[in-house]
Amino acid sequence: TGYLQRIDALNPQLNAFITVDRDKTLLEAAAADARRAAGLAGVLTGVPIAHKDIFCQQGWKTSCGSKMLDNFVSPYDAHVIEQCQAAGLVTLGRTNMDEFAMGSSNENSYYGAVRNPWDLAAIPGGSSGGSAAAVAARLAPAATATDTGGSIRQPASHCGVTGIKPTYGVVSRFGMVAYASSLDQGGVMAQTAEDCALMLSVIAGFDERDSTSLERAREDYSRDLAQPLAGLRVGLPREYFADGLAADVGRIIDNAVSELKKLGAEVVEVSLPNTRLSIPAYYVIAPAEASANLSRFDGVRYGHRASEYKDLVDMYEKSRAEGFGSEVKRRIMVGTYVLSHGYYDAYYIKAQKIRRLIADDFKAAFAGCDVILGPVAPTAAFNLGEKSGDPVQMYLSDIYTLSVNLAGLPAMSVPAGFSDNGRPVGLQIIGNYFAEAKMLNVAHQFQ
Ligand code: GLN
Repeated sequence: TGYLQRIDALNPQLNAFITVDRDKTLLEAAAADARRAAGLAGVLTGVPIAHKDIFCQQGWKTSCGSKMLDNFVSPYDAHVIEQCQAAGLVTLGRTNMDEFAMGSSNENSYYGAVRNPWDLAAIPGGSSGGSAAAVAARLAPAATATDTGGSIRQPASHCGVTGIKPTYGVVSRFGMVAYASSLDQGGVMAQTAEDCALMLSVIAGFDERDSTSLERAREDYSRDLAQPLAGLRVGLPREYFADGLAADVGRIIDNAVSELKKLGAEVVEVSLPNTRLSIPAYYVIAPAEASANLSRFDGVRYGHRASEYKDLVDMYEKSRAEGFGSEVKRRIMVGTYVLSHGYYDAYYIKAQKIRRLIADDFKAAFAGCDVILGPVAPTAAFNLGEKSGDPVQMYLSDIYTLSVNLAGLPAMSVPAGFSDNGRPVGLQIIGNYFAEAKMLNVAHQFQ
């Protein structure tokens, strides 16, 4: 109830939660107490957690930040939610997000922008800005989130919390509202790498209902936290420290690298030459997949339906025109265009080829290092409204996060310092496939 009180007190300012339901939370807490009394509790039984409003959760409104799903109460649980329930975690509420996870500032939510707890004039980052703000303001000890092109790492960086996006396929996408299915991956945010490791161990795991879920043995992601870093080879990609990186952010990352050297890490320079192509490739592939995924919102089976219409086609058109916000419409139009006959080869196929080149860049880089370090975003959190009128400026701020999703790699953000104007800045740690425990080890030793 301490967290519920903090939510009552601070959420009106932060807007980090879309839905809070005290009664449901208290019922779950009582069930956790009963499990404890019956001797059936695990280490996390009764620990509260906030869920991004993208994970379907039975009996809870699952809006995905959209008017389209404002009336949608999920009849089932996502795999991530099932696993949290099985571990006895207690739901604190559902966190705000950019509509359908499209955005880098959390200004695209139907429920209004989220504010950064460190500075109410700043954006919290997006699309999991509600989860990051909730953890940063201690409205929740941990939160689930998703990352399609940076939506865990970038808000974690801007809000000064720790966030991890695992290897594609480690966390099931079953019941996670789809944005760009080949890039979407669930993960967690918390204050520390240690807490992230505990939570990731809960939500990861094979699920046959997601065809891209990987059939691997369960892992204890906390197992290597205490390992010393002596001999660790840290790769610094030249392209991540070039033009466009703000001086204060660059200094913070340099200091972080010096700290790791003191802990025994060796630094090597690596190159990811196709980094600058990640923005055009991502902003072709993600909208293409989104345009297909969002075609299900037709006003027929669930979601928003226009109240007046002439015939079926008019009903589709009006429901979608009213239900989707402007960024979502922009992406549907871009996605439909790049997939259309005559443009498919020039855009979509070209983007898929670039995707392969980006994955090959990482493969070459990991031949010489164990983890790659760099900034998460080129600047600290910008001000609300600063970029909302210019989508290209907004997309450019994703330069250091998109390639990881295009390659399917795991990556995290760890708090590393404060910008000249006092806003948090994260260090990005990128691992090779399935190197989550190693990344968490590095983050934990750094913290
Ligand atoms: N900013 C990126 C986008 O708008 C990434 C969002 C995400 O990871 N969900 O698509």
